[in-house]
Amino acid sequence: MPTRPARARELLRKGRARVHRVVPFIIRLVDVDATTPGIDVDGVELGIDPGSKHSGLALFTTTRDGERTAVTLIDLVHRGLTIKNAMTSRAQLRRGRRSRNLRYRAPRFDNRRRHPVDGLNTWLAPSTRHRVVTTLSWVDRLTRWAPITGVHVEAVRFDTQAMENPEIGGVEYQQGTLAGFEAREYLLTKYRHTCVYCDATGVPLNIDHVRPRSKGGSNRVSNLVLACVTCNQAKDAQPVEVFLACDPARLARVKAGLKRPLRDAAAVNSTRWALTHAIEARGFPVKTSTGGRTKYNRTVHAVPKTHALDALCVGDVTGVTGWPATTLVVTCAGRGRYRRVNVDKYGFPRTTKDGTPAKVNRTKIHHGYATGDLVRAVVPTGKKQGTHVGRVAVRATGSFNITTAHTTIQGINHKHVRLLQRGDGYTYQTTPTLTGDEK
Ligand SMILES: [Zn+2]
Repeated sequence: MPTRPARARELLRKGRARVHRVVPFIIRLVDVDATTPGIDVDGVELGIDPGSKHSGLALFTTTRDGERTAVTLIDLVHRGLTIKNAMTSRAQLRRGRRSRNLRYRAPRFDNRRRHPVDGLNTWLAPSTRHRVVTTLSWVDRLTRWAPITGVHVEAVRFDTQAMENPEIGGVEYQQGTLAGFEAREYLLTKYRHTCVYCDATGVPLNIDHVRPRSKGGSNRVSNLVLACVTCNQAKDAQPVEVFLACDPARLARVKAGLKRPLRDAAAVNSTRWALTHAIEARGFPVKTSTGGRTKYNRTVHAVPKTHALDALCVGDVTGVTGWPATTLVVTCAGRGRYRRVNVDKYGFPRTTKDGTPAKVNRTKIHHGYATGDLVRAVVPTGKKQGTHVGRVAVRATGSFNITTAHTTIQGINHKHVRLLQRGDGYTYQTTPTLTGDEK
């Protein structure tokens, strides 16, 4: 059961616990285990907010009234775009090699495999698959470290059930209500976070009544679009026909868009469902929720916006009583490359002076360390004197680089280095969590 730092220090001092892992800091009690009579833990629950670049994970305790207190916050940073770029680059290099005037290469068409996600028969794009698999891997790790009794997943952006044919059924948008938050998420997805009047993205968007409310326009989703603040104010109470009089093409597009329901709602949420089903397959009681509800909870309970705090607000929440001062940022760094020969920018192998391909060193471990290990180096003298803790990059020469939280120190002799934790494909960083009193 997760405990407070002060109690953890006390347990370690008295010798009742020993360190199991350095990051995240895990201790293990030595004098009791699950079979000891009288040992009973309440357990914690896990909230997950899956995203494309970040996924939030929150371990929390719940009171009988449904009030939540977070004990651990994790911001998992994915490498989806890196994977997509690497796959595109590989495909282009292969295509280039095939069409260039080189020796004959037999076409290879049957050597590509489609891996289903563990326990699922769904195929996902490699970048998407990575997101599901890493999040799952963290669910498994947290299960080993803490007594998880239930999982809450934000499985969809908005509730497709409640919003079945919202354009016809007429879900009302009213600011501050749960239905209003669902409707807003629906509109954000439908209009792809873009202003319909000027195509601006990445700016704050307002809900705009196409037929102004002062002219009898309804609150229904079929009368709503997204507009940036400038366009929203410029349009004001004008009918859309007047506001877009000089741009008939856009006017037609906006009007057609109003009638068109969001077709690919299922596709939008496919990754989240893949994750949800995979967690269910692990045997956890899983409760699904929507992005609209998360945002509603966050607003009602005055919780600031971070990925991990979003995870704390997933599902039915009656109150949020507190959260840790720091969030653990876990970045997927990978475990190195499969590539045996580096290529130049044209896709040709880098060669040595005599023209043979320069093979990448197959050995990963040098002087007992591998790139990615968490180490502490105590350098007694010289320019690099001091204690450095961080991720090591090894060289066969024994001259290592160490990347700390602030900088990279080059050329540290392996003799000064001691292992803290083996590399596991992630880098760890701790950042202060927002408290909500920032402004
Ligand atoms: Zn605009």
